[in-house]
This record gives sequence, C-alpha cells and structure tokens, in this order.
Amino acid sequence: MKKEAYNPLKVARQQMANAAKKLNLDPKMVEILKECERVIEVSIPVKMDDGSLKVFQGWRSNHNTAIGPAKGGVRYHPDVTLDEVKALSMWMTYKCNVIGLPYGGGKGGVAVDPRKLSPRELEELTRNYVKAIAPIIGPEKDIPAPDVYTTPQIMGWIMDEFSKLKGYNAPGITTGKPIILGGSLGRDKATAMGCLFVVKEAAKKLGLDFKKTRVAIQGFGNAGSFAAVFMSELGCKVVAVSDTKGGIYIEKGIDPQKVIEFKAANKDKTVVGFPGAKTITNQEVLTADVDILIPAAFENQINAEIAANVKAKIVAEVANGPTTPDGDAVLFEKGVLVIPDILASAGGVTVSYFEWVQNLMNFYWPLEEVNAKLERIMVESFNNVYNMHQEKSVDMRNAAFMVAINRIAEAMKARGWV
Ligand code: GLU
Repeated sequence: MKKEAYNPLKVARQQMANAAKKLNLDPKMVEILKECERVIEVSIPVKMDDGSLKVFQGWRSNHNTAIGPAKGGVRYHPDVTLDEVKALSMWMTYKCNVIGLPYGGGKGGVAVDPRKLSPRELEELTRNYVKAIAPIIGPEKDIPAPDVYTTPQIMGWIMDEFSKLKGYNAPGITTGKPIILGGSLGRDKATAMGCLFVVKEAAKKLGLDFKKTRVAIQGFGNAGSFAAVFMSELGCKVVAVSDTKGGIYIEKGIDPQKVIEFKAANKDKTVVGFPGAKTITNQEVLTADVDILIPAAFENQINAEIAANVKAKIVAEVANGPTTPDGDAVLFEKGVLVIPDILASAGGVTVSYFEWVQNLMNFYWPLEEVNAKLERIMVESFNNVYNMHQEKSVDMRNAAFMVAINRIAEAMKARGWV
C-alpha cells in the first residue's frame, strides 16, 4: 500500500504536544521532546554479486535517553527516510515509557529493499551498517532490534559484527537474536502476544464475546500473522487479512496457520490467491464489517476518509503510526476504542527488554516465565492508560502519551535537565 503524504515526524511531534498540553507540561520539556538527542546518517557500500557496487543510505536516531539507553528496531525498506526514522525513535521513547521499561527511544533504518538482495549481499549490508553506526550503539547506549523486514538472522549478524569490533562477546548489543546467541524464548511472537493481552482487556471493558467477534488484520508479517493465529485461538473469526500485494476475505473465517503456510510457499510471498478467499483491497480490509481491526503494516493507513468507514469497535494498532491525526479525531468521535500503537505494539520491545536483562545476567528464563511477565506488564499498562483516559476524559492515545510523558518528565527533572 502506498504511503500517504503525512510526515510521521510531524505526527509524532503533534501527538506529544497534544498530550503535553493536557498535562500542562513545562514548555522547556516540550522543546526537548520535540527533537532527537542524536542522529547519525551513514552511507553503506555493498559489493553486489554481479561485481557492481551499490551505496545505500542509513540512519540511527536516539530520541531521548533520560530514563535509560535508547532502544528500538532497525527497518530495512526502500521508502525509509530520515524523518521517518526520527519519528519512529520518538514513538519508541513513548512506547518504552508507557510500559515502564528503563529505556529511551531509538530507531534505525536503511533505504533498501532487502527482498532484492541475495543472502550474502544482505549480510554485507548489515555488517557495514553496524560498522558505520558502531560509535552510537552499545548494550549500555543504544540497543537495536528487528523491525519491518529485519529478522533474527540479521540480529545475529549485528551481534557478531559488534562483538568482533569490541573483541568480546556482546549479546546485549541487540535483541530479537537467534535463541542460540542469547535470544529470548517468546521474542518472535511477543508483539502479537502483547496485542492479544491488551485486546482481551479492552474486550472486557466493552463486554465483547470472542465467540461472536469478527477481526480484520492489515499486514501479515511477524506481528500480523501471529496476531491472526492468537485471535482465532481465542475463538474469534478472522475474516480479512492483507499484505502489500492485497487482501483476502472469507466470511466464515480464515485459518491463519494455513494462510501462513500458503504465503511462505508461493512465489510472490503473498496471502493473495489463498484458495476459497475473495480478493479485496487493503482499504477494504480496514473498512471490513468487523468488531476488531488490527492495523499491523505501516504508517498513515487510517486517514479521516477511511476512519469514517471503519466499522470496528476496537482498533488495536500493532503497526507504528497507522492512524493519521485527522483519522484519529474521526475514530474518537465515533466512539471507537483505539488501543494506540505505543501500547498495543509494545509486547515486542517488552520481551526485548527481557532478552537484554537475560543477556546481562547470563541466566535464561523458560517460555512460561517470559509470557507470564509479559502478560502482567501489558495488562497493568493497559489499565494505567485506560484509567488516565477515564479520569482525565481524554482519548486513549492522549492517555498513553500522558502516562509516558509523566515518567520521562520526572526523569528529566530529576537529572536537572530543566
Ligand atoms: N521494532 C519493534 C517496535 O517498533 C521492536 C523494538 C525492540 O524490540 O526494541 O516496537
């Protein structure tokens, strides 16, 4: 789906400013939060398999580290821009702090289509990216992780390259690693599982019966596909899913596991063409007649026009920044319960935090422990945000930003920054 002309950096700043206003936040703090503490732009030469040389552009941004080291994924996508990376690093600050993790926000990106690179080219790109951003990353400084089109294998290369640069094994440099290199059990499904826990809480508030609940999911990557599995395990009917190539619809509900297998097996790596499904557009997925909508793809998908046609009672944002500010206003007016991205997608970074903690103490937890800790944190965080939403009569997005900003502001004050 084509991205729209909304600048995510403007959106992220606006969301912060809206919540800051409701909190009567010291304007000096607003000035600090408007900018990123540090951003590095790098060029990454890669010797291609055909003998040519290509130079890719990349970035790493640290937004605010008042609470702790910067944390956030690395995105490989042809449309990545500096502003997008900065915005995503801002959202990571708020995401980590709505959850109460001891991190600030970071994010990285490389403007590349990794699907067009051979495995060797992808490895060289990753290792050269690590060399280029090495001055600003580190287990105590800034900890990368997977994001759009980056995988545990890529995290393994990041960890190996950084460890070689330092001359010692440094598993805490990145999260989302293969288990054998110190990855955490449960990290692969953590984003979707975190979404499941907050959706369950939201459903309690609205009295939804999962047996009668219909779900649509935009995006069928790591987060979207596992979200589909979890929602259908809960008893919901997942009627529509999509990826960049389009959407599919089955009135009686799809079997997500079968769609995952179908997508992995076909040449175009898409859900489109799944036997027995009607082909629909991405837009039709967003406006399908469902109770729960899970946008799990990219930014700026639900604008005012689409929001006006959204039928869901709950929108759980597993993508970062999927709703535009005007779309937000429309959803709020319609009384849709939006579980904002900084909360609904926070399961991934929460288990990343568990991974980092396990790396630092060199002691590893069983899956049940990881999932139990994740559930406790997600449920508690949802209720913190929901209570703020009720007590201050603000929408859920403002409430989530307010919870996060309160924490960051306290740290900035305690450090004497303002
Ligand atoms: N990229 C994910 C996010 O946007 C995970 C970040 C992390 O685990 O550090 O939340």
